[in-house]
Amino acid sequence: METISVLEDRKNQISQKGRDTFEMACEKKSLAGAVSQRACVFCGSRVVLYPIADALHLIHGPIGCASYTWDIRGALSSGPELHRMSFSTDLSETDVVFGGEKKLEKALLELVAEYEPKAAFVYCTCIVGIIGDDVEAVCKKVAAKVGIPVLAVHSEGFKGTKKDGYKAACDALFKLIDLNRKPEKQIPLSINILGEFNIGGETWIIKEYYRRMGVEVVSVMTGDGRVKDVQSAHRACLNVVQCSGSLTHLARDMEQAYGIPFIRVSYFGIEDTSDALYDVASFFKDAPQIMERTKALVQEEVCAILPELAALKKDLVGKRAAIYVGGAFKAFSLIKALKHLGMSEVLVGSQTGNKEDYALLREMCDPDTVILDDANPLELAKYVMEKDAHLFIGGVKERPIAYKLGIGFCDHNHERKIPLVGYEGMVNFAKEVHATVTSPIWDLVPRKAFNRAISNKG
Ligand code: SF4
Repeated sequence: METISVLEDRKNQISQKGRDTFEMACEKKSLAGAVSQRACVFCGSRVVLYPIADALHLIHGPIGCASYTWDIRGALSSGPELHRMSFSTDLSETDVVFGGEKKLEKALLELVAEYEPKAAFVYCTCIVGIIGDDVEAVCKKVAAKVGIPVLAVHSEGFKGTKKDGYKAACDALFKLIDLNRKPEKQIPLSINILGEFNIGGETWIIKEYYRRMGVEVVSVMTGDGRVKDVQSAHRACLNVVQCSGSLTHLARDMEQAYGIPFIRVSYFGIEDTSDALYDVASFFKDAPQIMERTKALVQEEVCAILPELAALKKDLVGKRAAIYVGGAFKAFSLIKALKHLGMSEVLVGSQTGNKEDYALLREMCDPDTVILDDANPLELAKYVMEKDAHLFIGGVKERPIAYKLGIGFCDHNHERKIPLVGYEGMVNFAKEVHATVTSPIWDLVPRKAFNRAISNKG
């Protein structure tokens, strides 16, 4: 393992703070053969739209695409759970030869009759793009028959990166809002929350903060989402975008079409959560009571969690973390959160970061931190070992890398079941990091046992 090298064509997507001065290459298609950690375009669109719980999500493609993304988010619903069912047209050889449009129409009609969804999303996968089914035409025809919005999501997997899938999802959401738009009045002191997916109930935590501040949440896109709420989104005063990599397209489109401004925030960690709430409060200048309530809320919440964080920090000071996440915005928050626990980062990477993201990461990170764009498992393993990290923070695809190397792992991606946003999320994060980093199991892994045996001999 110590001899792992980096592919020549990937060298300008990896830099080390303080050593390399070149501008990172990013936002390009993954290198063929590099076995990227990234998900495909279709997966990108599904993770954004999936939490809309009263919509039908139909994967037009082979069954593998559906199973790969089934229940991909720990997105909870306070009501219907149609999103948790995985429907697919299960395209096979015959459909590839004769086309899948008839099968798609039949599936849509049957599913709408059976489950009575409020809208339907039809996801185009690789094979649909290759055989050239006119999904848009089928959706239109079925929508006219069944009387609900039926929207094609143009997310053929091969067409770009996961980020293109986010764009396809935003296009579908915008269509859903615009289709039913009526000249309704703006709702005072209201916001939409964009890029928040109710993983482990996170939407409910954030909505409660806004309730206490006196701010109305018109819609959340898409955590605990409902079609009718999304269709009212054009009535809000402000769009608050959390996962900026995924939902900024929609915020821009809504700004252009309805004049709704947007701000970017993060709800991970103490500083970012507080900044997010203060930024929203400052937007409503004509309602100073919102800022007053926000100050009280932040003070109360921070005071409540500091003692517990301090106790956990005692065992974590000086420990090193590797971070590999989807969007770079999450990485920024994680770096700040780790500092609260006395930890440093030795590797930070993202699947979809842009040049500004990597420039900011370079500013924020500790000297010698390795910064990676669109990494693969071998690169991650190489730097985790070289930097002797104690913890890996990533998603489902990074978990086996961490465990095989014998270090702690914290799931900060969309499959997890624990809420990590807000003040209580910070405590959950600290508890999880503490439990995994201090586990005695890591002293028994072969790599460490071998190293210990060597040093004992010496
Ligand atoms: S859409 Fe294409 S890349 Fe994505 S899972 Fe399906 S076959 Fe694979």
